[in-house]
Amino acid sequence: MRIERYMKASSIADAFAILQERPDNKIIAGGAWLKLTDPVINTAIDLSLLGLNSISEQDNEIEIGAMTTLYTLEKSAIIQKMYDGILAQAAMKIMGITIRNIATIGGCIMGKFGFSDIITPLMAMDAILVFHQHQRMTLEAFLDSKANFQDVLIKIVIPKTEARGYFHKIALTSLDFAVLNIAVSRKNSEYRIVFGSRPGVASRAFAAEQYLKELKNVSEDIINKAVDMAASECRFGTNQRGSAEYRLNLAKVYAKRGIEAVTDYEN
Ligand SMILES: Cc1cc2nc3c(=O)[nH]c(=O)nc-3n(C[C@H](O)[C@H](O)[C@H](O)COP(=O)(O)OP(=O)(O)OC[C@H]3O[C@@H](n4cnc5c(N)ncnc54)[C@H](O)[C@@H]3O)c2cc1C
Repeated sequence: MRIERYMKASSIADAFAILQERPDNKIIAGGAWLKLTDPVINTAIDLSLLGLNSISEQDNEIEIGAMTTLYTLEKSAIIQKMYDGILAQAAMKIMGITIRNIATIGGCIMGKFGFSDIITPLMAMDAILVFHQHQRMTLEAFLDSKANFQDVLIKIVIPKTEARGYFHKIALTSLDFAVLNIAVSRKNSEYRIVFGSRPGVASRAFAAEQYLKELKNVSEDIINKAVDMAASECRFGTNQRGSAEYRLNLAKVYAKRGIEAVTDYEN
């Protein structure tokens, strides 16, 4: 990475305006990932003076500033309480504390990384992104968007709710990227089943979620059917960390554990 000019934005509008000036102007958050890439950045726009690094509890939602680090997420009592703490658990599984003290939630989202351990639980929590220009949009809509997003992510909003959650990351070593990660959540009769690092970016098993929603009680047979639906609905691929077949098998085992955990089902 080579940076020609570095500026600390004095407002979000200021950051946005400079971002629009040239396609090679870039927001720099933790810079942990950007540093590993090889772009020439004309103007690196630093958001660190804008107070976007905290988590706050509002009446109906939790707001997480885009510059909040993974270590802050992991240690936040608010985040540890929500959905049985799946977002805090996911953050905790990423590298060591030194990286977690640098990498931000905004960088995790804006990179649209296939390997992301953060996008998976956020999708299971129905996260909403708040941008300067695009304003509010769901995380899924953002991930689906093909357009090059020259916008400033300000915060991530999670609706406050009583909900259960399960997260698991399978990796070859504790410091490695995931072979697969999974988040399952339940809010009353609404389920989310999300697979990430497939190795593509996280995706939801909509048909399996709907199937579970329509049933009053779960049983072993119902869980097995939902697991088969979820596993066949999501596409798994092969890379140096694992084959598509291995990922499919992992998906079935951990989707079952996830559904059992969020329904308190014991067989
Ligand atoms: C060695 C290493 C190992 C890692 N291992 C894992 C892992 O196992 N699992 C995992 O999930 N992640 C892993 N990561 C990724 C890490 O969790 C972060 O996702 C990554 O570092 C990006 O966050 P950042 O704050 O460093 O963003 P940066 O590198 O600063 O930025 C990343 C991208 O996001 C854009 N951006 C950042 N913030 C904003 C904003 N507010 N508005 C608009 N655009 C923005 C930047 O312009 C850039 O394009 C790893 C990273 C490193 C360096």
